Amino acid sequence: MQVFTGIGVNGGIAIGQFSMYQRKVTEIVRKSVEDVDSELTRFQEALEKTVVHLRKLYEKAVSEVGEATAMIFEVHQMMIEDREYIASVENIIRAEKVNAEYAVDLTAINLSNIFSSMDNEYMKERAVDIKDVSKKLLSFLQDNASEEIKMNKPVILAADDLVPSETVQLDRTMILGFITQQGSANSHTAILARTMDIPAVVGVNIELNSELEGKLAVIDGFDGRVYIEPEQEVLMKLMKKQLQDNERKSLLKQLKGKESITKDGQVIKIYANIGNSEDIDSVLNNDAEGIGLFRSEFLYLKNDTYPTEEEQFVAYRTVAEKMSGKKVIIRTLDIGADKKVDYFNLDKEENPALGYRAIRICLDRNDLFKTQLRAIYRASMYGKISIMFPMIISLEEVRKIKVIIEEVKKELGEEGISFAEVELGIMIETPAAALISDILAKEVDFFSIGTNDLTQYTLAIDRQNQKLDKLYDPYHPAVLRLIDVVAHNAHDNGIWVGICGELAGDLTMTETFLQMEIDELSVAPSKVLALRNEVINFSSK
Ligand code: PEP
Ligand code: MG
Repeated sequence: MQVFTGIGVNGGIAIGQFSMYQRKVTEIVRKSVEDVDSELTRFQEALEKTVVHLRKLYEKAVSEVGEATAMIFEVHQMMIEDREYIASVENIIRAEKVNAEYAVDLTAINLSNIFSSMDNEYMKERAVDIKDVSKKLLSFLQDNASEEIKMNKPVILAADDLVPSETVQLDRTMILGFITQQGSANSHTAILARTMDIPAVVGVNIELNSELEGKLAVIDGFDGRVYIEPEQEVLMKLMKKQLQDNERKSLLKQLKGKESITKDGQVIKIYANIGNSEDIDSVLNNDAEGIGLFRSEFLYLKNDTYPTEEEQFVAYRTVAEKMSGKKVIIRTLDIGADKKVDYFNLDKEENPALGYRAIRICLDRNDLFKTQLRAIYRASMYGKISIMFPMIISLEEVRKIKVIIEEVKKELGEEGISFAEVELGIMIETPAAALISDILAKEVDFFSIGTNDLTQYTLAIDRQNQKLDKLYDPYHPAVLRLIDVVAHNAHDNGIWVGICGELAGDLTMTETFLQMEIDELSVAPSKVLALRNEVINFSSK
Protein backbone atom coordinates (compact mmCIF):
# COMPACT_ATOMS: atom_id res chain seq x y z
CA MET A 1 0.00 0.00 0.00
CA GLN A 2 1.19 3.52 -0.76
CA VAL A 3 -0.35 6.69 0.67
CA PHE A 4 0.07 10.15 -0.79
CA THR A 5 -1.25 13.47 0.42
CA GLY A 6 -2.43 16.57 -1.37
CA ILE A 7 -5.20 19.15 -1.09
CA GLY A 8 -8.70 17.70 -0.95
CA VAL A 9 -10.79 20.06 -3.09
CA ASN A 10 -14.04 18.17 -2.98
CA GLY A 11 -15.14 15.83 -0.21
CA GLY A 12 -16.20 12.32 -1.01
CA ILE A 13 -14.58 8.92 -1.28
CA ALA A 14 -13.85 7.40 -4.67
CA ILE A 15 -12.78 3.78 -5.03
CA GLY A 16 -11.70 2.40 -8.38
CA GLN A 17 -8.94 1.74 -10.85
CA PHE A 18 -6.40 4.33 -11.78
CA SER A 19 -6.29 5.66 -15.31
CA MET A 20 -3.27 7.74 -16.25
CA TYR A 21 -3.88 10.83 -18.30
CA GLN A 22 -0.90 11.89 -20.32
CA ARG A 23 -1.66 15.08 -22.18
CA LYS A 24 -1.55 14.05 -25.78
CA VAL A 25 1.40 15.30 -27.72
CA THR A 26 0.17 16.07 -31.19
CA GLU A 27 1.85 14.01 -33.83
CA ILE A 28 5.38 15.13 -34.43
CA VAL A 29 5.83 16.17 -38.00
CA ARG A 30 9.12 17.16 -39.57
CA LYS A 31 8.75 20.70 -40.88
CA SER A 32 11.32 22.82 -42.64
CA VAL A 33 11.79 26.25 -41.12
CA GLU A 34 13.18 29.45 -42.54
CA ASP A 35 13.83 31.18 -39.25
CA VAL A 36 16.21 28.87 -37.39
CA ASP A 37 16.84 31.41 -34.64
CA SER A 38 13.22 31.66 -33.61
CA GLU A 39 13.02 27.86 -33.56
CA LEU A 40 16.02 27.78 -31.22
CA THR A 41 14.32 30.37 -29.02
CA ARG A 42 11.11 28.29 -28.94
CA PHE A 43 13.14 25.32 -27.79
CA GLN A 44 14.92 27.37 -25.10
CA GLU A 45 11.64 28.73 -23.78
CA ALA A 46 10.01 25.30 -23.62
CA LEU A 47 13.13 23.93 -21.95
CA GLU A 48 13.00 26.65 -19.30
CA LYS A 49 9.32 25.95 -18.60
CA THR A 50 10.02 22.24 -18.28
CA VAL A 51 12.88 22.87 -15.86
CA VAL A 52 10.74 25.17 -13.71
CA HIS A 53 8.00 22.55 -13.70
CA LEU A 54 10.38 19.75 -12.68
CA ARG A 55 12.02 21.94 -10.05
CA LYS A 56 8.67 22.62 -8.44
CA LEU A 57 7.78 18.94 -8.41
CA TYR A 58 11.14 18.11 -6.89
CA GLU A 59 10.93 20.72 -4.11
CA LYS A 60 7.45 19.70 -3.14
CA ALA A 61 8.34 16.04 -3.20
CA VAL A 62 11.43 16.58 -1.02
CA SER A 63 9.49 18.39 1.68
CA GLU A 64 6.64 15.92 1.69
CA VAL A 65 7.93 12.50 0.79
CA GLY A 66 11.67 12.84 1.11
CA GLU A 67 14.73 13.02 -1.03
CA ALA A 68 14.71 9.44 -2.29
CA THR A 69 11.33 9.65 -4.00
CA ALA A 70 11.94 13.19 -5.16
CA MET A 71 15.15 12.18 -6.94
CA ILE A 72 13.31 11.13 -10.06
CA PHE A 73 12.37 14.74 -10.85
CA GLU A 74 15.97 15.79 -10.36
CA VAL A 75 17.17 13.05 -12.68
CA HIS A 76 14.66 14.20 -15.31
CA GLN A 77 15.86 17.77 -14.95
CA MET A 78 19.49 16.72 -15.27
CA MET A 79 18.66 14.79 -18.41
CA ILE A 80 17.17 17.69 -20.33
CA GLU A 81 19.72 20.15 -19.03
CA ASP A 82 22.51 17.87 -20.11
CA ARG A 83 24.83 19.55 -22.60
CA GLU A 84 24.64 16.62 -24.96
CA TYR A 85 20.86 16.65 -25.00
CA ILE A 86 20.66 20.38 -25.67
CA ALA A 87 23.44 20.26 -28.25
CA SER A 88 21.74 17.40 -30.07
CA VAL A 89 18.43 19.28 -30.33
CA GLU A 90 20.10 22.52 -31.40
CA ASN A 91 22.33 20.80 -33.93
CA ILE A 92 19.37 19.08 -35.56
CA ILE A 93 17.47 22.38 -35.77
CA ARG A 94 20.47 24.16 -37.28
CA ALA A 95 21.79 21.45 -39.56
CA GLU A 96 18.48 20.25 -40.93
CA LYS A 97 16.63 23.60 -40.65
CA VAL A 98 13.70 21.88 -38.97
CA ASN A 99 11.15 22.54 -36.27
CA ALA A 100 12.05 22.17 -32.58
CA GLU A 101 9.42 19.45 -31.99
CA TYR A 102 11.04 17.19 -34.54
CA ALA A 103 14.50 17.85 -33.13
CA VAL A 104 13.42 17.04 -29.56
CA ASP A 105 11.63 13.90 -30.65
CA LEU A 106 14.57 12.66 -32.69
CA THR A 107 16.97 13.38 -29.84
CA ALA A 108 14.75 11.44 -27.43
CA ILE A 109 14.64 8.45 -29.77
CA ASN A 110 18.40 8.49 -30.36
CA LEU A 111 19.30 8.80 -26.68
CA SER A 112 16.78 6.25 -25.49
CA ASN A 113 18.18 3.78 -28.04
CA ILE A 114 21.64 4.36 -26.64
CA PHE A 115 20.40 3.80 -23.07
CA SER A 116 18.47 0.66 -24.04
CA SER A 117 21.51 -0.91 -25.61
CA MET A 118 23.63 -0.55 -22.45
CA ASP A 119 24.50 -3.57 -20.34
CA ASN A 120 23.95 -1.87 -17.03
CA GLU A 121 20.34 -2.45 -15.86
CA TYR A 122 20.13 0.96 -14.20
CA MET A 123 21.17 2.75 -17.39
CA LYS A 124 18.78 0.65 -19.47
CA GLU A 125 15.88 1.96 -17.39
CA ARG A 126 16.88 5.54 -18.17
CA ALA A 127 15.59 4.99 -21.70
CA VAL A 128 12.04 5.38 -20.37
CA ASP A 129 13.01 8.52 -18.45
CA ILE A 130 14.49 10.28 -21.42
CA LYS A 131 11.31 9.62 -23.37
CA ASP A 132 9.12 10.74 -20.45
CA VAL A 133 10.88 14.01 -19.89
CA SER A 134 11.06 14.74 -23.61
CA LYS A 135 7.30 14.22 -23.79
CA LYS A 136 6.89 16.82 -21.08
CA LEU A 137 9.13 19.19 -23.00
CA LEU A 138 7.12 18.56 -26.16
CA SER A 139 3.87 19.40 -24.37
CA PHE A 140 5.33 22.76 -23.35
CA LEU A 141 6.63 23.26 -26.86
CA GLN A 142 3.26 22.51 -28.38
CA ASP A 143 1.37 24.48 -25.74
CA ASN A 144 -0.91 21.49 -25.40
CA ALA A 145 -3.19 23.09 -22.89
CA SER A 146 -6.41 21.19 -23.25
CA GLU A 147 -8.18 18.32 -24.90
CA GLU A 148 -11.02 15.94 -24.29
CA ILE A 149 -10.20 13.00 -22.03
CA LYS A 150 -11.57 9.65 -23.17
CA MET A 151 -12.57 7.02 -20.60
CA ASN A 152 -14.29 3.78 -21.48
CA LYS A 153 -14.97 2.48 -17.97
CA PRO A 154 -15.41 4.09 -14.55
CA VAL A 155 -11.97 5.22 -13.36
CA ILE A 156 -10.02 7.47 -11.06
CA LEU A 157 -8.10 9.80 -13.29
CA ALA A 158 -4.49 10.71 -12.46
CA ALA A 159 -2.88 13.59 -14.32
CA ASP A 160 -0.04 16.03 -13.88
CA ASP A 161 -2.60 18.80 -14.09
CA LEU A 162 -6.06 19.42 -15.48
CA VAL A 163 -7.03 22.75 -16.96
CA PRO A 164 -10.64 23.94 -16.63
CA SER A 165 -11.47 23.14 -20.25
CA GLU A 166 -10.37 19.52 -19.72
CA THR A 167 -12.19 19.20 -16.42
CA VAL A 168 -15.46 20.51 -17.74
CA GLN A 169 -15.42 17.89 -20.46
CA LEU A 170 -14.91 14.90 -18.15
CA ASP A 171 -17.51 12.22 -18.75
CA ARG A 172 -19.54 12.11 -15.53
CA THR A 173 -20.72 8.59 -16.10
CA MET A 174 -17.11 7.40 -16.09
CA ILE A 175 -15.18 9.65 -13.74
CA LEU A 176 -15.13 8.41 -10.14
CA GLY A 177 -12.62 10.99 -8.98
CA PHE A 178 -9.37 12.60 -9.97
CA ILE A 179 -5.95 13.45 -8.62
CA THR A 180 -3.42 15.89 -10.02
CA GLN A 181 0.21 16.60 -9.20
CA GLN A 182 -0.36 20.31 -9.55
CA GLY A 183 -3.29 22.60 -8.81
CA SER A 184 -4.56 24.87 -6.06
CA ALA A 185 -7.66 24.79 -3.90
CA ASN A 186 -9.19 27.89 -5.47
CA SER A 187 -8.59 27.29 -9.15
CA HIS A 188 -11.47 26.82 -11.55
CA THR A 189 -10.52 23.16 -11.84
CA ALA A 190 -11.14 22.79 -8.10
CA ILE A 191 -14.40 24.72 -8.39
CA LEU A 192 -15.49 22.47 -11.24
CA ALA A 193 -14.75 19.38 -9.15
CA ARG A 194 -17.13 20.75 -6.53
CA THR A 195 -19.78 21.82 -9.05
CA MET A 196 -19.66 18.44 -10.76
CA ASP A 197 -19.36 16.72 -7.36
CA ILE A 198 -16.29 14.70 -8.22
CA PRO A 199 -14.06 13.66 -5.28
CA ALA A 200 -10.70 15.24 -6.05
CA VAL A 201 -7.27 15.75 -4.55
CA VAL A 202 -4.82 18.18 -6.16
CA GLY A 203 -1.15 18.92 -5.52
CA VAL A 204 -0.37 15.24 -4.89
CA ASN A 205 3.27 14.26 -4.70
CA ILE A 206 3.16 11.21 -6.80
CA GLU A 207 5.24 10.08 -9.69
CA LEU A 208 2.87 9.24 -12.50
CA ASN A 209 3.98 6.33 -14.61
CA SER A 210 2.39 3.59 -16.63
CA GLU A 211 2.82 1.07 -13.79
CA LEU A 212 -0.01 2.79 -11.93
CA GLU A 213 -2.44 2.16 -14.76
CA GLY A 214 -5.29 -0.09 -13.62
CA LYS A 215 -4.16 -0.27 -9.98
CA LEU A 216 -6.82 -0.09 -7.27
CA ALA A 217 -6.87 3.37 -5.73
CA VAL A 218 -8.95 5.24 -3.19
CA ILE A 219 -9.29 9.00 -3.03
CA ASP A 220 -10.34 10.57 0.23
CA GLY A 221 -11.36 14.05 -0.86
CA PHE A 222 -12.19 15.00 2.74
CA ASP A 223 -8.65 14.84 4.01
CA GLY A 224 -6.71 14.96 0.76
CA ARG A 225 -5.32 11.43 0.83
CA VAL A 226 -4.71 9.02 -2.01
CA TYR A 227 -4.25 5.29 -1.31
CA ILE A 228 -2.80 2.93 -3.87
CA GLU A 229 -3.56 -0.76 -3.42
CA PRO A 230 -4.79 -0.16 0.16
CA GLU A 231 -4.47 -2.91 2.72
CA GLN A 232 -7.69 -4.78 3.43
CA GLU A 233 -8.22 -3.10 6.78
CA VAL A 234 -7.68 0.40 5.38
CA LEU A 235 -9.94 -0.34 2.44
CA MET A 236 -12.71 -1.47 4.78
CA LYS A 237 -12.39 1.74 6.80
CA LEU A 238 -12.59 3.86 3.67
CA MET A 239 -15.58 1.92 2.40
CA LYS A 240 -17.28 2.59 5.73
CA LYS A 241 -16.49 6.28 5.42
CA GLN A 242 -17.99 6.25 1.92
CA LEU A 243 -21.11 4.58 3.25
CA GLN A 244 -21.44 7.16 6.04
CA ASP A 245 -21.09 9.95 3.53
CA ASN A 246 -23.81 8.43 1.40
CA GLU A 247 -26.03 8.03 4.45
CA ARG A 248 -25.46 11.68 5.38
CA LYS A 249 -26.40 12.68 1.85
CA SER A 250 -29.60 10.64 1.94
CA LEU A 251 -30.54 12.14 5.32
CA LEU A 252 -30.13 15.57 3.80
CA LYS A 253 -32.45 14.53 0.96
CA GLN A 254 -35.25 14.76 3.53
CA LEU A 255 -34.81 18.52 3.35
CA LYS A 256 -35.88 18.57 -0.28
CA GLY A 257 -38.94 20.72 -0.78
CA LYS A 258 -38.41 22.56 2.53
CA GLU A 259 -37.97 26.32 2.74
CA SER A 260 -34.55 27.67 3.77
CA ILE A 261 -35.71 29.53 6.86
CA THR A 262 -34.06 29.92 10.26
CA LYS A 263 -35.74 29.14 13.57
CA ASP A 264 -36.38 32.90 13.91
CA GLY A 265 -38.08 33.08 10.54
CA GLN A 266 -35.26 34.64 8.52
CA VAL A 267 -35.46 33.47 4.93
CA ILE A 268 -32.42 33.13 2.70
CA LYS A 269 -32.49 31.80 -0.83
CA ILE A 270 -30.17 28.91 -1.63
CA TYR A 271 -29.25 28.75 -5.27
CA ALA A 272 -26.74 26.64 -7.18
CA ASN A 273 -23.73 27.39 -9.39
CA ILE A 274 -23.45 25.63 -12.72
CA GLY A 275 -20.99 25.49 -15.62
CA ASN A 276 -23.29 24.10 -18.29
CA SER A 277 -26.72 22.64 -18.93
CA GLU A 278 -25.59 19.12 -17.91
CA ASP A 279 -25.30 20.33 -14.30
CA ILE A 280 -29.06 20.87 -14.15
CA ASP A 281 -29.87 17.31 -13.06
CA SER A 282 -27.75 17.77 -9.99
CA VAL A 283 -29.36 21.17 -9.32
CA LEU A 284 -32.83 19.62 -9.44
CA ASN A 285 -31.80 16.53 -7.43
CA ASN A 286 -30.49 18.77 -4.69
CA ASP A 287 -33.52 21.04 -4.80
CA ALA A 288 -31.75 24.35 -5.35
CA GLU A 289 -34.18 27.25 -5.37
CA GLY A 290 -32.62 28.76 -8.45
CA ILE A 291 -29.35 29.15 -10.29
CA GLY A 292 -27.27 31.92 -8.81
CA LEU A 293 -24.34 31.64 -11.20
CA PHE A 294 -24.30 30.07 -14.62
CA ARG A 295 -20.64 30.34 -15.64
CA SER A 296 -21.40 30.79 -19.33
CA GLU A 297 -17.75 30.82 -20.35
CA PHE A 298 -17.70 27.04 -20.09
CA LEU A 299 -19.81 26.95 -23.25
CA TYR A 300 -16.89 28.67 -24.92
CA LEU A 301 -14.29 26.49 -23.23
CA LYS A 302 -15.96 23.33 -24.51
CA ASN A 303 -15.91 24.56 -28.09
CA ASP A 304 -13.28 24.73 -30.79
CA THR A 305 -14.69 27.98 -32.04
CA TYR A 306 -17.08 30.72 -30.88
CA PRO A 307 -20.43 29.17 -29.97
CA THR A 308 -23.06 30.65 -32.27
CA GLU A 309 -26.08 32.63 -31.10
CA GLU A 310 -28.22 29.58 -31.84
CA GLU A 311 -26.01 27.19 -29.85
CA GLN A 312 -26.00 29.53 -26.89
CA PHE A 313 -29.74 30.13 -27.17
CA VAL A 314 -30.37 26.37 -26.98
CA ALA A 315 -28.16 26.03 -23.88
CA TYR A 316 -29.77 28.97 -22.04
CA ARG A 317 -33.27 27.95 -23.07
CA THR A 318 -32.68 24.35 -21.87
CA VAL A 319 -31.58 25.58 -18.47
CA ALA A 320 -34.41 28.09 -18.20
CA GLU A 321 -37.03 25.51 -19.18
CA LYS A 322 -35.69 22.81 -16.88
CA MET A 323 -35.72 25.22 -13.95
CA SER A 324 -39.47 25.71 -14.57
CA GLY A 325 -39.81 29.33 -13.60
CA LYS A 326 -37.12 29.35 -10.92
CA LYS A 327 -34.55 32.10 -11.31
CA VAL A 328 -31.55 31.47 -13.58
CA ILE A 329 -28.77 34.06 -13.34
CA ILE A 330 -26.52 33.87 -16.38
CA ARG A 331 -23.13 35.46 -15.99
CA THR A 332 -21.80 36.78 -19.26
CA LEU A 333 -18.52 35.51 -20.61
CA ASP A 334 -15.72 35.54 -18.04
CA ILE A 335 -12.87 34.29 -20.17
CA GLY A 336 -9.23 35.00 -19.36
CA ALA A 337 -6.80 34.25 -16.51
CA ASP A 338 -6.96 30.46 -16.01
CA LYS A 339 -9.89 30.09 -18.41
CA LYS A 340 -8.12 30.19 -21.72
CA VAL A 341 -9.50 29.46 -25.15
CA ASP A 342 -7.15 29.14 -28.10
CA TYR A 343 -9.51 30.56 -30.68
CA PHE A 344 -9.72 33.88 -28.83
CA ASN A 345 -6.08 34.37 -29.79
CA LEU A 346 -5.38 36.33 -26.66
CA ASP A 347 -1.85 37.58 -26.16
CA LYS A 348 0.29 35.98 -23.47
CA GLU A 349 0.26 38.26 -20.45
CA GLU A 350 2.58 38.84 -17.52
CA ASN A 351 -0.34 39.08 -15.08
CA PRO A 352 -3.34 37.37 -16.66
CA ALA A 353 -5.51 37.65 -13.52
CA LEU A 354 -5.08 41.42 -13.78
CA GLY A 355 -5.28 41.31 -17.51
CA TYR A 356 -7.51 41.33 -20.51
CA ARG A 357 -10.47 39.29 -19.33
CA ALA A 358 -14.22 39.09 -18.79
CA ILE A 359 -16.16 42.31 -19.29
CA ARG A 360 -13.00 44.02 -20.55
CA ILE A 361 -13.02 41.75 -23.59
CA CYS A 362 -16.80 42.00 -24.03
CA LEU A 363 -16.80 45.79 -24.00
CA ASP A 364 -14.02 45.73 -26.59
CA ARG A 365 -15.62 43.14 -28.80
CA ASN A 366 -19.20 44.23 -29.34
CA ASP A 367 -19.91 41.43 -31.82
CA LEU A 368 -19.05 38.76 -29.29
CA PHE A 369 -20.94 40.44 -26.47
CA LYS A 370 -24.04 41.14 -28.54
CA THR A 371 -24.19 37.55 -29.79
CA GLN A 372 -24.30 36.32 -26.21
CA LEU A 373 -26.81 38.95 -25.08
CA ARG A 374 -29.11 38.19 -28.02
CA ALA A 375 -29.03 34.49 -27.14
CA ILE A 376 -29.83 35.24 -23.49
CA TYR A 377 -32.66 37.66 -24.31
CA ARG A 378 -34.19 35.18 -26.75
CA ALA A 379 -34.03 32.46 -24.06
CA SER A 380 -35.70 34.82 -21.56
CA MET A 381 -39.07 33.84 -23.01
CA TYR A 382 -38.65 30.29 -21.70
CA GLY A 383 -38.12 30.86 -17.99
CA LYS A 384 -37.01 33.43 -15.44
CA ILE A 385 -33.63 34.65 -16.56
CA SER A 386 -31.43 37.34 -15.02
CA ILE A 387 -28.09 38.54 -16.36
CA MET A 388 -25.01 39.53 -14.43
CA PHE A 389 -21.67 40.93 -15.50
CA PRO A 390 -18.26 39.87 -14.17
CA MET A 391 -15.18 41.82 -13.09
CA ILE A 392 -16.82 45.22 -12.89
CA ILE A 393 -14.63 48.05 -11.64
CA SER A 394 -16.46 51.22 -12.62
CA LEU A 395 -19.73 53.03 -13.17
CA GLU A 396 -18.68 53.70 -16.78
CA GLU A 397 -18.56 49.98 -17.51
CA VAL A 398 -22.06 49.49 -16.16
CA ARG A 399 -23.37 52.41 -18.21
CA LYS A 400 -21.69 51.10 -21.37
CA ILE A 401 -23.22 47.67 -20.77
CA LYS A 402 -26.66 49.21 -20.42
CA VAL A 403 -26.29 51.07 -23.71
CA ILE A 404 -25.35 47.83 -25.47
CA ILE A 405 -28.30 46.03 -23.85
CA GLU A 406 -30.66 48.71 -25.16
CA GLU A 407 -29.20 48.28 -28.64
CA VAL A 408 -29.67 44.51 -28.46
CA LYS A 409 -33.27 44.88 -27.31
CA LYS A 410 -33.98 47.42 -30.04
CA GLU A 411 -32.50 45.15 -32.71
CA LEU A 412 -34.46 42.14 -31.49
CA GLY A 413 -37.62 44.25 -31.45
CA GLU A 414 -37.03 45.40 -35.01
CA GLU A 415 -36.56 41.79 -36.08
CA GLY A 416 -39.85 40.86 -34.43
CA ILE A 417 -38.12 38.55 -31.92
CA SER A 418 -39.80 38.40 -28.52
CA PHE A 419 -37.96 38.71 -25.24
CA ALA A 420 -38.83 39.32 -21.60
CA GLU A 421 -37.58 42.07 -19.32
CA VAL A 422 -34.77 40.64 -17.21
CA GLU A 423 -33.08 41.70 -14.00
CA LEU A 424 -29.59 43.10 -14.55
CA GLY A 425 -26.96 42.63 -11.88
CA ILE A 426 -23.23 42.84 -11.44
CA MET A 427 -20.68 40.72 -9.70
CA ILE A 428 -18.83 42.39 -6.90
CA GLU A 429 -15.45 40.72 -7.11
CA THR A 430 -13.03 43.62 -7.18
CA PRO A 431 -12.30 45.89 -4.21
CA ALA A 432 -13.08 48.81 -6.54
CA ALA A 433 -16.63 47.61 -7.12
CA ALA A 434 -17.12 46.89 -3.42
CA LEU A 435 -15.94 50.36 -2.42
CA ILE A 436 -18.22 52.15 -4.88
CA SER A 437 -21.11 49.74 -4.38
CA ASP A 438 -23.29 52.61 -3.09
CA ILE A 439 -22.95 54.25 -6.52
CA LEU A 440 -23.26 51.04 -8.51
CA ALA A 441 -26.35 49.97 -6.56
CA LYS A 442 -28.29 52.82 -8.14
CA GLU A 443 -27.67 51.38 -11.60
CA VAL A 444 -28.52 47.71 -11.23
CA ASP A 445 -31.13 45.32 -9.83
CA PHE A 446 -28.84 43.15 -7.73
CA PHE A 447 -25.31 42.35 -6.62
CA SER A 448 -23.68 38.96 -6.47
CA ILE A 449 -20.44 38.88 -4.50
CA GLY A 450 -17.71 36.75 -6.03
CA THR A 451 -15.60 35.97 -2.99
CA ASN A 452 -13.06 33.94 -4.98
CA ASP A 453 -11.81 36.91 -6.93
CA LEU A 454 -12.65 39.42 -4.20
CA THR A 455 -10.22 37.53 -1.95
CA GLN A 456 -7.60 37.31 -4.69
CA TYR A 457 -7.74 41.02 -5.48
CA THR A 458 -8.12 42.28 -1.92
CA LEU A 459 -5.19 40.28 -0.58
CA ALA A 460 -3.09 40.41 -3.77
CA ILE A 461 -2.87 36.62 -3.65
CA ASP A 462 -3.00 34.74 -6.93
CA ARG A 463 -5.78 32.18 -6.46
CA GLN A 464 -3.99 29.88 -8.91
CA ASN A 465 -0.72 29.74 -7.06
CA GLN A 466 -0.41 26.54 -5.05
CA LYS A 467 2.41 28.03 -2.98
CA LEU A 468 0.11 30.80 -1.78
CA ASP A 469 -2.82 28.55 -0.85
CA LYS A 470 -2.00 29.04 2.83
CA LEU A 471 -2.20 32.82 2.45
CA TYR A 472 -5.38 32.80 0.39
CA ASP A 473 -7.69 33.69 3.25
CA PRO A 474 -11.32 34.46 2.40
CA TYR A 475 -11.97 34.99 6.14
CA HIS A 476 -9.52 37.90 6.21
CA PRO A 477 -11.20 40.85 7.97
CA ALA A 478 -10.59 43.01 4.90
CA VAL A 479 -12.63 40.65 2.73
CA LEU A 480 -15.41 40.28 5.31
CA ARG A 481 -15.58 44.04 5.78
CA LEU A 482 -15.99 44.55 2.06
CA ILE A 483 -18.81 41.99 1.98
CA ASP A 484 -20.52 43.80 4.83
CA VAL A 485 -20.14 47.18 3.13
CA VAL A 486 -21.62 45.78 -0.08
CA ALA A 487 -24.58 44.24 1.76
CA HIS A 488 -25.35 47.57 3.46
CA ASN A 489 -25.03 49.55 0.26
CA ALA A 490 -27.27 47.13 -1.59
CA HIS A 491 -30.01 47.26 1.03
CA ASP A 492 -29.76 51.02 1.55
CA ASN A 493 -30.47 51.35 -2.16
CA GLY A 494 -33.29 48.85 -2.24
CA ILE A 495 -31.61 46.03 -4.18
CA TRP A 496 -30.88 42.45 -3.15
CA VAL A 497 -27.44 40.97 -2.61
CA GLY A 498 -26.15 37.42 -2.92
CA ILE A 499 -22.83 35.61 -2.67
CA CYS A 500 -21.79 33.17 -5.37
CA GLY A 501 -18.10 32.62 -4.54
CA GLU A 502 -16.98 29.45 -2.77
CA LEU A 503 -17.33 31.09 0.63
CA ALA A 504 -21.12 30.98 0.22
CA GLY A 505 -21.03 27.22 0.79
CA ASP A 506 -18.73 27.38 3.79
CA LEU A 507 -20.98 26.36 6.68
CA THR A 508 -18.77 28.09 9.24
CA MET A 509 -19.78 31.36 7.56
CA THR A 510 -23.54 30.80 7.36
CA GLU A 511 -24.24 32.54 10.67
CA THR A 512 -22.16 35.57 9.64
CA PHE A 513 -23.97 35.83 6.31
CA LEU A 514 -27.35 35.54 7.99
CA GLN A 515 -26.33 38.34 10.38
CA MET A 516 -25.26 40.45 7.40
CA GLU A 517 -28.75 39.79 5.98
CA ILE A 518 -27.40 38.42 2.73
CA ASP A 519 -30.44 37.54 0.59
CA GLU A 520 -29.09 34.67 -1.43
CA LEU A 521 -26.24 32.15 -1.30
CA SER A 522 -25.27 30.29 -4.43
CA VAL A 523 -23.22 27.13 -3.99
CA ALA A 524 -22.17 23.93 -5.73
CA PRO A 525 -25.33 21.82 -6.25
CA SER A 526 -24.06 19.11 -3.89
CA LYS A 527 -23.81 21.67 -1.07
CA VAL A 528 -27.36 23.02 -1.27
CA LEU A 529 -28.98 20.63 1.22
CA ALA A 530 -26.17 20.80 3.78
CA LEU A 531 -26.48 24.60 3.67
CA ARG A 532 -30.26 24.41 4.04
CA ASN A 533 -29.74 22.15 7.06
CA GLU A 534 -27.46 24.77 8.59
CA VAL A 535 -30.01 27.55 7.96
CA ILE A 536 -32.97 25.56 9.29
CA ASN A 537 -31.11 24.77 12.51
CA PHE A 538 -29.93 28.32 13.06
CA SER A 539 -31.38 30.52 15.76
CA SER A 540 -30.03 33.94 16.67
CA LYS A 541 -31.10 33.50 20.31
C1 PEP B 1 -15.81 34.57 -7.87
O1 PEP B 1 -14.82 35.19 -8.30
O2 PEP B 1 -16.06 34.43 -6.66
C2 PEP B 1 -16.72 33.91 -8.81
C3 PEP B 1 -17.84 33.38 -8.39
O3 PEP B 1 -16.32 33.84 -10.11
P1 PEP B 1 -15.22 32.80 -10.63
O4 PEP B 1 -14.89 31.87 -9.50
O5 PEP B 1 -15.81 32.08 -11.78
O6 PEP B 1 -14.10 33.69 -11.00
MG1 MG C 1 -14.68 35.63 -10.41
